Amino acid sequence: MSSDCLFCRIVDRTVPATVVHETDSVLAFRDIDPQAPTHVLVIPKDHHPDAASMASADPALAGAVLSAAGEVAKLEGVDTSGYRLVFNTGRDAHQTVFHVHCHVLAGRGMGWPPG
Ligand code: 5GP
Ligand code: ZN
Repeated sequence: MSSDCLFCRIVDRTVPATVVHETDSVLAFRDIDPQAPTHVLVIPKDHHPDAASMASADPALAGAVLSAAGEVAKLEGVDTSGYRLVFNTGRDAHQTVFHVHCHVLAGRGMGWPPG
């Protein structure tokens, strides 16, 4: 836990969020500035700065984040229509919060390649 990390503060409930799914190791909550009708962030409760460092330090946790993203898609009713999972990593990819998070985006057509 890092007291100066926004998403650690959401995990410890000192910053409010609309939680849609939770396990022992993972939390999923709605993005504050949704970019699609469904826009949920799935995060590990432990602090890791990005997807690659999480996967290297704790591969099972990376699996738990992906499993939870699939569960969120089911809960949101978009598992059959389709959804996009995004891990922005680093400055050029527009990562702004350096606690790894998987965006679950759905409910509209997704362009490709992404802008
Ligand atoms: P990134 O740009 O790092 O991939 O994504 C960070 C995401 O966190 C953005 O989509 C942004 O809207 C979301 N976000 C930033 N601050 C908050 C907050 O306080 N609460 C919630 N629920 N989402 C946030
Ligand atoms: Zn954190």
